[in-house]
Amino acid sequence: MTAQSAAAAARATVYGYPRQGQNRELKKAIEGYWKGRADADTLRATAAELRRANWLQLAEAGIHEVPTGDFSYYDHVLDTGVMVGAIPERHRAAVQADALDGYFAMARGTQDVAPLEMTKWFDTNYHYLVPELGPDTVFSADSTKQVAELREALALGLTARPVLVGPVTYLLLAKPAPGVAAGFDPLTLIDRLLPVYAEIVADLRAAGAEWVQLDEPALVQDRTPAELNTATRAYRDLGALTDRPKLLVASYFGRLGDALPVLAKAPVEGLALDFTEAAAANLDALAAVGGLPGKRLIAGVVNGRNIWVNDLGTSLATLGTLLGLADRVDVAASCSLLHVPLDATAERDIEPQIRRWLAFARQKTGEIVTLAKGLAGGTGAIAAELAANRADLASRAGSAITRDPAVRARATAVTDADGRRSQPYAERTAAQRAHLGLPLLPATTIGSFPQTTELRTARADLRAGRIGTAGYEERIRAEIGEVISFQEKTGLDVLVHGEPERNDMVQYFAEQLTGYLATQHGWVQSYGTRYVRPPILAGDISRPEPMTVRWTTYAQSLTAKPVKGMLTGPVTMLAWSFVRDDQPLGDTARQVALALRDEVNDLEAAGTSVIQVDEPALRETLPLRAADRPAYLAWATEAFRLSTGGVRPDTQIHTHMCYAEFGDIVQAIDDLDADVISLEAARSHMQVARELAGHGYPREAGPGVYDIHSPRVPSADEAAALLRKGLEAIPAERLWVNPDCGLKTRGWPETRASLENLVAAARTIRAEL
Ligand code: GLN
Ligand code: ZN
Repeated sequence: MTAQSAAAAARATVYGYPRQGQNRELKKAIEGYWKGRADADTLRATAAELRRANWLQLAEAGIHEVPTGDFSYYDHVLDTGVMVGAIPERHRAAVQADALDGYFAMARGTQDVAPLEMTKWFDTNYHYLVPELGPDTVFSADSTKQVAELREALALGLTARPVLVGPVTYLLLAKPAPGVAAGFDPLTLIDRLLPVYAEIVADLRAAGAEWVQLDEPALVQDRTPAELNTATRAYRDLGALTDRPKLLVASYFGRLGDALPVLAKAPVEGLALDFTEAAAANLDALAAVGGLPGKRLIAGVVNGRNIWVNDLGTSLATLGTLLGLADRVDVAASCSLLHVPLDATAERDIEPQIRRWLAFARQKTGEIVTLAKGLAGGTGAIAAELAANRADLASRAGSAITRDPAVRARATAVTDADGRRSQPYAERTAAQRAHLGLPLLPATTIGSFPQTTELRTARADLRAGRIGTAGYEERIRAEIGEVISFQEKTGLDVLVHGEPERNDMVQYFAEQLTGYLATQHGWVQSYGTRYVRPPILAGDISRPEPMTVRWTTYAQSLTAKPVKGMLTGPVTMLAWSFVRDDQPLGDTARQVALALRDEVNDLEAAGTSVIQVDEPALRETLPLRAADRPAYLAWATEAFRLSTGGVRPDTQIHTHMCYAEFGDIVQAIDDLDADVISLEAARSHMQVARELAGHGYPREAGPGVYDIHSPRVPSADEAAALLRKGLEAIPAERLWVNPDCGLKTRGWPETRASLENLVAAARTIRAEL
């Protein structure tokens, strides 16, 4: 095909769409089913209606080829496991008894059987269920769901393309099943898995699919030559099948690197690549291998995981370049639209002018269609859209929200000294111990106490105007009073105010910082039926006034023991928000850090001697490629130091991180220059304490001795045993006693009992020293 005819044929497509529905109907239907309020048929009908509405919406917007099979009751990786018959042994009976209930049992566990483990889908905030495989795993094809959903879309008269998790990515995401040696490599199962994929794609072809998409995002991560060989072999074998549809291999979340030539040479008919800024290297790499002669290229030029309007002119230029590199070029978002909210026009509280800068799934769909039109018909065909887009981009670039000269001047003036405490850790620690008068093995908590129904009701009452601010704050003060008196009575050493005023550890601060936007309906699936509404880092960030000081000082006024101030760190503020795309992440982090620095300094000035800056997202934000990590860690640790570097030597800075596996960032944790860190460790029997010690971590640390993810109350003996284990790795002068994480999801009865046991354990061990 010539470049001209390749352009004329350009089509618009997407790889996946938000599943929840306009009003989170799917969440309500599934939770209704779990609670026995609705039967399976009602749930299935709701799901089918949501799929239908999505497809029709996509088609009406001008999408030529709609995705099928991307819908899920819980998670598409779990669906893939069902599709290839990889049901864990412990769930088999339940699945056989009832497929739907068995499916939910794998996802959520039951009274007797543990669920599959859940972890983050690449570097997004979506979580998938980790496949459990072993040398005895037998795969078998079950294409029921894929075929049924394809038929539904075809019955609407649409062109549809089934989307499947590819076999290589599926195996790379898996882990050895319980009881299987940790050294087992699931990728060795590829030869058993491929015939199952062959059967499934044949079924899809028989059901009417011209194309089938196989998603291989795992190939944008660092891969060994052996892994790349497996990918080569997998697609050679699938390509060699005779009874098969056309195959499209899709990659997203970054550049393919060494995997690009592998896929370019594979005997498949199409490739989908990410061409957003983060994956710009794909363009040169594609040219370097001589393009994709004879193949279809789907160009992901619209960012599928951020919420900003596309720069249509730039995308069109990229598409123009790509025309010469493939037989046919189609337009898509860089990844499934699962990772963005549904519709920006629903955000009535955001000023219309600013709303025009935003593109959620619906708006992105429009951009994709416009770009396909522009590619096919030239800029003349989309002149009005281009003009409107230029106006929106100019309005954003020129807005006072986007650029606040005072914030920029301050960020530019930052020096190394701002991020450096006035004394090194070794000297500070003595000053802090003297100042705080703490015992050995001081006991503390991570910040939040149970978020009771009364607290949530009070917040809802405030929002609905049923109570005023004064009434609400009265309730918060009463709660703080109870939390403080409980901690005093129990004998904790460093107290907290309990965070009763916070709806969420990021949103609470986002609402008070200038430059952040909140959404009303911007729900994004985090896992299963859990949806979050990430705030938007829209412009330059500043803190108009103190955010937490009055709550912390109120708590401190009730006790002679030190009360710890509680803040969310700059990296976590970025990680759990939608970020700006018009400046480096490090610049945004620095602005947030400076705003937090003001808060830290104000807390200290108000008499707070211990301040905790939580960074649970430091580890999870680590870039997918090792080559990108040093730069990330440099700005991330700098931002933390900037927020905490302005306090006196005798003010103690804590940080907190959850989710284990810290081995590869111990140096970065040390570079934060915090005085004390608390970490999750109870379930892994103090593994992180050994990791910190193994890397020579020199500071104070509190590996958690109470697993807050379960209502189970640890006995004092159990907690003491964990502390003894902790002491094997961390000397008594540096060991803290605390739970794994905050207590906001727990109830009061188990919180009370657990913390009493935790303090008893600390006392027992102190007596032994
Ligand atoms: N301070 C927060 C809390 O206790 C920390 C939460 C977290 O680490 N995710 O709730
Ligand atoms: Zn935590």
